[in-house]
Amino acid sequence: MLKEITDGGSAQLYIGGEWKAASDGAEMEVLDPATGAPIVNVASGSVEDATAAVDAAYGAAAEWAATAPRVRAEILRRAYEIMVSRADELAELIVLEMGKALPEARAEAVYSAEFFRWFSEEAVRVIGSVSTAPGGDKRIMAVHQPIGVSVLITPWNFPAAMATRKIGPAFAAGCTVILKPASDTPLTALAMAKILEEAGAPPGTVNVLPSRRAGAVGEAMLTDPRVRNLSFTGSTEVGRKLLEVTSRHIVRSSMELGGNSPFLVFEDADIESAVAGAMIAKMRNGGQSCIAANRILVHNAVVDEFTQQFSRAMAAIKTGPGMEDGVELGPMINESAQTEMKELVGVSTGAGSTVMTGGDAPSRPGFFFEPTVLTKIDFDNPILGREIFGPVAPVIGFDTEEQALALANDTVHGLASYVYTEDLKRGLRVAEAIEAGMVGINRGLISDPAAPFGGVKESGLGREGGTYGIHEFLETKYIAADW
Ligand code: NAP
Repeated sequence: MLKEITDGGSAQLYIGGEWKAASDGAEMEVLDPATGAPIVNVASGSVEDATAAVDAAYGAAAEWAATAPRVRAEILRRAYEIMVSRADELAELIVLEMGKALPEARAEAVYSAEFFRWFSEEAVRVIGSVSTAPGGDKRIMAVHQPIGVSVLITPWNFPAAMATRKIGPAFAAGCTVILKPASDTPLTALAMAKILEEAGAPPGTVNVLPSRRAGAVGEAMLTDPRVRNLSFTGSTEVGRKLLEVTSRHIVRSSMELGGNSPFLVFEDADIESAVAGAMIAKMRNGGQSCIAANRILVHNAVVDEFTQQFSRAMAAIKTGPGMEDGVELGPMINESAQTEMKELVGVSTGAGSTVMTGGDAPSRPGFFFEPTVLTKIDFDNPILGREIFGPVAPVIGFDTEEQALALANDTVHGLASYVYTEDLKRGLRVAEAIEAGMVGINRGLISDPAAPFGGVKESGLGREGGTYGIHEFLETKYIAADW
């Protein structure tokens, strides 16, 4: 797939159905995180290119909005089929630029394709309503219309899934898009453009603009009055900046931001199953996931048993380059992510915690970090107050349900959460009381294209996936009628 995108040279921008270099010739290097070595150069879009992408998306918008939903659905369906048939190649590309272990990359390739399938099915089910006004004087019609040109900004951690989770509903709704992928992982986004091109997406409906100048190109697009919508996935810090930019022209904004998920294990939980769930919730994607279990709260009656089993499982993880046989944990995305993990462990142990396993970067090339378990965490340990985007897991003991809930909710974030208990009544009670957009009960894996994904508090605005996702790309129009 890399060869198709680069054709032996640098990878290019995809604007208006054409592959082109940046207007000023700028390029950026994409590195292999398993070695730190450059893979290939990619065109780095300029402000001029951003305007050209808006021109293309705006130019295609009216016709695309008027295209029959079934036609849009079938393009998405074809894209789904191409992705599934090429899942192995796509997975290799994901490993190359992002580093995750091959089985996880394969899982991402299929998961991301599912967003195209799901939204191809949703495209033909955008249903409005009609009712008689309470006063009997008119009919109230509510119709849903595509919102228009949408800017999609995505992170590097799931370079395929974060793109399809946005392109799928945008296309289904009839919106044209400009995708700005993370600079660490632009290749997978360009592969998406190839796939959509092959599936029949008309020129201008999807544009992909890699750029090292995220602030400038983002601002150029979001202050262009032809752009009506932003769908952002990334850090809370950048989301906040973007909301300031979108406030200037009141651009509709949905935000999938950072998390600091609590993982609660009660004294009546099946410990073996809780450990298996924690391994998934913490270590999926090498811990570089917005819904990663970052505060593992375990009842003091079972905390020793849990910690021992969990530490054994963490210590047994095979770390190495994502393409190597049997590897479960690849490198972190870049050097600064690796450095951040070292600092985080230092800060936490400095505040009194103990390293049960791991705790450092192995001495090898690439940006690796050991699977790490920290215990003896005081409630004011600074590690609990921030998102851990890597393979570091703090385990904290608690005594009562009230205390566990108070600790779980003691965060500005509110994305995912997890509860392990054999008492379903308690599970549901705690699920209702937790301040989070998503709760897994006796499950460590919650993501599903058919489910509404999103957060509360500083974790975001809006939902992606499920029957809700398409509404982030639709406006509701009220028509008052007499007949
Ligand atoms: P990030 O630094 O916020 O970057 C996300 C995207 O925003 C990248 O494409 C980045 O481009 C771009 N960007 C950065 N500054 C910008 C600006 N001033 N204007 C416009 N765009 C800008 O996040 P990340 O490090 O890639 O991803 C990790 C974060 O994403 C974590 O906090 C994680 O929790 C969150 N996340 C959330 C979800 C969710 O669904 N809630 C899912 C996945 C990840 P460059 O790469 O060029 O800087």
